[in-house]
Amino acid sequence: MRAIVIHAAKDLRVEERPEETPGEGQLRLRLATGGVCGSDLHYYNHGGFGTVRLREPMILGHEVSAYVESVGPGVTGYTEGQLVAVSPSRPCRACKYCLEGLPNQCLNMRFYGSAMPFPHIQGAFREVLVADQFQCVDATGLTPGEAAMAEPLAVTLHATRRAGDMLGKRVLVTGCGPIGILSILAARRSGAQEIVATDLSGFTLALARKVGADRTINMASEPDALAAYNADKGYFDVLYECSGAAPALAGGIAALRPRGIILQLGLGGDMSVPMMAITAKELDLRGSFRFHPEFAVGVSLMQKGLIDVKPLITHTVGLDKAEEAFLLASDRSQAMKAQIAFS
Ligand SMILES: [Zn+2]
Ligand SMILES: [Zn+2]
Repeated sequence: MRAIVIHAAKDLRVEERPEETPGEGQLRLRLATGGVCGSDLHYYNHGGFGTVRLREPMILGHEVSAYVESVGPGVTGYTEGQLVAVSPSRPCRACKYCLEGLPNQCLNMRFYGSAMPFPHIQGAFREVLVADQFQCVDATGLTPGEAAMAEPLAVTLHATRRAGDMLGKRVLVTGCGPIGILSILAARRSGAQEIVATDLSGFTLALARKVGADRTINMASEPDALAAYNADKGYFDVLYECSGAAPALAGGIAALRPRGIILQLGLGGDMSVPMMAITAKELDLRGSFRFHPEFAVGVSLMQKGLIDVKPLITHTVGLDKAEEAFLLASDRSQAMKAQIAFS
């Protein structure tokens, strides 16, 4: 089978790899679609992020859907040809955080395509994938592309859960890449009353309006527009910070009203935080990292037509043109989610 392997920054190869056979509780899957994520792009463009560096070749990818080919011993409830969304979240289910109900904080997490541990956790961009039963969520009724959006959607559903009650809230989303756009969808579905989104790209902001943002602000062409919300100690109840950029965080904090909640999703490395404003306005700064149960929730919301991710999928290319998907996904002037069709 072929797999998409990163060797170093800008050194992406489609290579032959041995196929695995499913063991107890596992399924053998034929990959349908894989979405290129920001973390994949970090490996592709920079060979890692923060202190995390590639130290050996690694199969990329963690946003995937697949067709069931066969099942291993003890697996029931799946049929050949069935479309499944495959969760890349593989907690050990035995460490103290797993047992406390915090699987996304698992001490032995084997999240697909991660160079954090060594040996690296190999990813899911491969024609044949053997996965555990608990990872495979029925995606009947969805397109393979939609099913492959379950992972980034789950990231934003987890953040929304971290925010708590969303009904009637005024929401600011800074950064309108896929996570920002999905945050708009998740916040709206959860009852947000007003959603304002910022970015530097007119293309992404047009998409933000299309999926339901009430107002968008282009921080490149209207750098002062957000400051109108700073009066009387701020306006917004919740900030989804999806850019990972310090100026976006600072601008968002200034526009948050007292007791507002900051959801930090953007992974921009360590940034300076306006701590005085957090103290004086009694803001809650809440990190949000990955997800676990929200994956199946997201699939279900898509199946019921309650969240529509289709407008995000701007490009789909074949496996032989995989690198094109990475180049497209890096270009915020024309692409939102670029996906690779494996079959
Ligand atoms: Zn992702
Ligand atoms: Zn664990």
